[in-house]
Formats: sequence, structure tokens, C-alpha cells
Amino acid sequence: MNDSISAWLRCYRCWSRNLEVQLHYDAIRKVDPESGIPAEGIDEVQEAVVQCLDCLHDQPHLTFDGQGVVPIEDRWERMVAGTPWVASCTVAVEADQVETCSGPEAVESLTYGSFGDAGTREFFTHVRFHKHQDETIIVHLLVELYARSAEEASGVLEDAARGTLEITSLAEESRPPAHAPDGSH
Ligand SMILES: [Zn+2]
Repeated sequence: MNDSISAWLRCYRCWSRNLEVQLHYDAIRKVDPESGIPAEGIDEVQEAVVQCLDCLHDQPHLTFDGQGVVPIEDRWERMVAGTPWVASCTVAVEADQVETCSGPEAVESLTYGSFGDAGTREFFTHVRFHKHQDETIIVHLLVELYARSAEEASGVLEDAARGTLEITSLAEESRPPAHAPDGSH
């Protein structure tokens, strides 16, 4: 790793530098009353998702700042240099932190209720089941995240958890094979 742009401007999983950014704009324009043509204006980026064109995964360590793709400072080194860790865990959250725990939105609500944005955007989260205990919901999950050590992985889970976290097991997986740039390596 060095300070050059290639250190962070790459896929965190396969290290490919073949990326694309999907930009979703929202534009509000005044309509010319004579021609019906909307006036020129500034498009506001509502959402930007960077994706790897080789392994097709989203890149939660990268974002778009209006000019270009930039790294998310407290995240990119851990994700690019790290390996995948799989945690089996429970998060005990207040029942009102989960919007709905049944129906088609349940998985997303339980994931967000347990780990917030990190759960839905960064981690690969699988909700196994959940239990109600008075005003608490205990969510049982399998989570995959990237980190450089077991301590870092549990720290990231701890920081993201929106309730009491209990990690039952944490195991390092092997990194997916790196993408060879232009077959030159
Ligand atoms: Zn990739």
C-alpha cells in the first residue's frame, strides 16, 4: 500500500481497478413558457453507488463527492487490506428500532435495526431468525465484513451494533482471488 490513488481506487474484494459509478440525479428546472424547454440548471446527485465491473460487487469504501470518486477515510484501508470475517452473532435491540419484523420488508428492517447503515450497505448480513422478549427483539445473524484482524472485526461490529451485541463465533475466510489487471501479472 502506498499513498497513490491506486491504493484505494480499486475493488476491495478482487482489487480490480475496473470500476463504474452509478449516479442518480434529481433535477428541478423552470419551464420556459414559450418553448416548453426546461432551463439549464445544476443537477443534484441524490445517490452514488460505485461498482466493480469484474466481480459486480458494490464498493462501500468509495463515494462520489460531486467531482470524483473519493475514499471513505475510516473505512477504505480496513476493507482493501483486510480479509473477510464471518461472525455469528446476536444483537438485542429495542423493539421500536425495528420498523417491521414480518412480511417482505422484515429482513431489511431487522438488518437495519441491528447494524444501521453498515448492516445494509457495508456488511453482507443474513438474518437467521429473531425472538421477542418483552420490549426487546433478539436478532440472530450471520455477518460477513472485511477487517485486518479479529480484534478489528469485532470492534467494527461493536461500533455498528444498535443494541447489545454478542458474538458467538468469528472466523477468518480466505480472500476471493485477486483480479489480474490486463493479464499482465
Ligand atoms: Zn471486484
